[in-house]
Amino acid sequence: MKIFQNFDLKERNTLGLRANTKYYTEPESVEELKAILSDDSYNEIPKMVMGEGSNILFTGDYTGLIIHPSIKDIRITDEDADYIYLRAGAGVVWDKLVEFAVDRGWGGIENLSSIPGCVGAAPVQNIGAYGAEAKDTIFRVEYLTFEGLVDKTLSCEECRFGYRDSIFKRELKGRGVITYVTFRLSKIPAINAGYEDVKQAMKGVSEPTIFQVREAISSIRAKKLPDPAVVGNAGSFFKNPVVNKSLALQLKESYQDLKLFPAGENEYKLPAAWLIDKCGFKGSRTGNVGVHANQALVLLAYEGATGEELINLSKTIIKTVKERFNVDIEPEVNIC
Ligand SMILES: Cc1cc2nc3c(=O)[nH]c(=O)nc-3n(C[C@H](O)[C@H](O)[C@H](O)COP(=O)(O)OP(=O)(O)OC[C@H]3O[C@@H](n4cnc5c(N)ncnc54)[C@H](O)[C@@H]3O)c2cc1C
Repeated sequence: MKIFQNFDLKERNTLGLRANTKYYTEPESVEELKAILSDDSYNEIPKMVMGEGSNILFTGDYTGLIIHPSIKDIRITDEDADYIYLRAGAGVVWDKLVEFAVDRGWGGIENLSSIPGCVGAAPVQNIGAYGAEAKDTIFRVEYLTFEGLVDKTLSCEECRFGYRDSIFKRELKGRGVITYVTFRLSKIPAINAGYEDVKQAMKGVSEPTIFQVREAISSIRAKKLPDPAVVGNAGSFFKNPVVNKSLALQLKESYQDLKLFPAGENEYKLPAAWLIDKCGFKGSRTGNVGVHANQALVLLAYEGATGEELINLSKTIIKTVKERFNVDIEPEVNIC
């Protein structure tokens, strides 16, 4: 299998940032992955896994080996009267999996239509959109450790999913490769069209199908979000902050238009986009970086932008939000 040297990553990250990696490889099976990882040449160097690079910010060159799992098979492993168990390789393009499921009438991931990236990355931050999260359908995750090449299988509970969070962003961060994910999809799909935009798009449709939900969400996303092929971005740059009840209510009293979303006992999630917008950043540009005019959560990397410029802009935003609202926001994007 080919190991590329001094590999250019500019076309491999949706922010379009310039960076090289010392080594790069695309194993097509677990066996190929094991063969590389047991090669002594790569034992001592840093290793990193990368899917489509749609949630990664490179601040410079990478001095180790980047592994892009290219395991692309999709297979039914089990089924009963209600569910299909679908096992997909880490390298399957996420939206292809959604299309595959929706075309067959299997429900559960249609609200996650058109999210960029690979299947292997979906459990990492528990991707979510339009009232659904990957964790709602993930049945098990197969994972190969760098150390000792141990095959592990994690149940949904063991993945410890949270809002844009999982064990793969914590204890298992940088420790190995997700090779397969098995999803439990419903043969009798329940339509999840509660989100305002989706509700609007479905107006007049008496019994929407998952196909129509997928179509509506893809079209809403295409209108709202910038296309990385046109201007570099990584989707939402920041997570929505969760704050305690007393701060949330205090803010609500001062700002009637602030929406609060209950997030567990005595806590509320606040829309980071609203906070950033109120601080005046929406639609702004500094040098080669800026904030999207339609969605303040999305930072833009124009041609020639560097990771450092983006980090500086994000720090300015974080500081301004803290000073104005006493709320800490943090990046969702993985900074390397
Ligand atoms: C326009 C746009 C819109 C977006 N909208 C959404 C959205 O609505 N909801 C949402 O949740 N996200 C969204 N994102 C973020 C992104 O699409 C997701 O985080 C996606 O899952 C990243 O997939 P990827 O393959 O590009 O992963 P990468 O960006 O390549 O990697 C992300 C992280 O996962 C790790 N990783 C990747 N693959 C593996 C693996 N096989 N094993 C172990 N670790 C791995 C990487 O090391 C890295 O830490 C958006 C991004 C863009 C550009």
